[in-house]
Amino acid sequence: MLNTSRSQKLFDQAQKSIPGGVNSPVRAFKSVGGNPLFIKRAKGAFMYDEDDNAFIELINSWGPMLFGHANEKIEAAVINAVKTSLSFGAPTNAEIEMAEMICSMFPSIEKVRMVNSGTEATMSAVRLARGYTGRDKIIKFEGCYHGHGDSFLIAAGSGAMTMGAPDSPGVTKGTAADTLTLPFNDLEKAKDLLSKVGNEIAAIILEPVAGNMGCILPKEGYLQGLRALCDKYGIILIFDEVMTGFRLSKSGAQGVFDVQADLTTLGKIIGGGMPVGAYGGKKELMDFVSPVGPVYQAGTLSGNPVAMAAGLAMLNQIQNENGLYERLANITQRIEEGFQKNLDTLGLPYTMNRIGSMISIFFTNQKVTDFDSAKTCDTALFGKYFREMLNNGVYLAPSQFETLFISDSITEELADKIIEANYKALKAIH
Ligand code: PMP
Repeated sequence: MLNTSRSQKLFDQAQKSIPGGVNSPVRAFKSVGGNPLFIKRAKGAFMYDEDDNAFIELINSWGPMLFGHANEKIEAAVINAVKTSLSFGAPTNAEIEMAEMICSMFPSIEKVRMVNSGTEATMSAVRLARGYTGRDKIIKFEGCYHGHGDSFLIAAGSGAMTMGAPDSPGVTKGTAADTLTLPFNDLEKAKDLLSKVGNEIAAIILEPVAGNMGCILPKEGYLQGLRALCDKYGIILIFDEVMTGFRLSKSGAQGVFDVQADLTTLGKIIGGGMPVGAYGGKKELMDFVSPVGPVYQAGTLSGNPVAMAAGLAMLNQIQNENGLYERLANITQRIEEGFQKNLDTLGLPYTMNRIGSMISIFFTNQKVTDFDSAKTCDTALFGKYFREMLNNGVYLAPSQFETLFISDSITEELADKIIEANYKALKAIH
């Protein structure tokens, strides 16, 4: 068993001044039992808690740390930027570099606006879609998570799903009524709904690969089908690539599935670990944003010089690393195959989904293709698995309804350690 006495003490203290002791709900480990670990530092593939326990890290700050923690190039860029002041609130050359870099990597993005989080990106994209089309309603998919904007806390995934509160109190009935929901991966249902209300819909927003109800891939032709429906009804198609952007390829899920969104939201990796988000798309749409257009959106810290330095260093590294995505996919495939072998050896019927360096193990014997099938998972069993993995030195996302993000700092040797921990953990809980 781990010694977590200092984390325990800090958690007790934190709960006195911070709601639930955490600044984002899933961090509290509520759904997996036990108390959260307080983290002191991380380097490469390893994270260390306040009791000096070391863990191989498979969340990587929920996605951003593509190259592992405290990457030297990103660190150096940040330190350089810090010396020029932490914030100007005025235009900088780094913002142009960032915008040009994103536009050059994502073919569907002709202009881009920087914000400070994924939540801001999706809220802004939806406002723009509404302003541009003059329509109020949007469609989202059950189990997809787009941050904590009011319009998205309807059948939401991620922490909302983990906490059993996919619809949050505090969202007005009016806002909720403007968000229609559909099951992910069911094109017929989308066709049906749009045949009735297609002309009232401003935007369809989705994670092209869902990551917030565990990792769920789109069925063949699904994204193309949604694209065609949006064209038919004049709806803005928003791909929320906060997770998948620069994770699945240099041009995100759009590059992998060869479908172009009208608007794309980005976050996580583009900040290299700093609080950054962005939304971008076709020129004519983006020029509807203030100060050229009428849709208002702003931010004191947007395009912050330190955040831009981190993001640019990250994107430069992505551009310059040969074979990065192949390497990430290969190491994750090794982990997937190892996990599958363990499941087979132990006679356990659980399901796994993987694409590139995103992977989830679902404690259910059903194929997981949408919110309903994800909900068939034995979450109590996942909690036990999570704690056993910690005991065996591997830090997972503390929820069944999250994806693991494998970083480029996971070597074959570390992958084999993860596979060994998985075997021990699965054995211990059955
Ligand atoms: N969209 C997606 C697909 C996400 O996964 C997340 C966060 N996990 C968000 C939006 C919200 O981003 P943030 O937490 O930076 O506000």
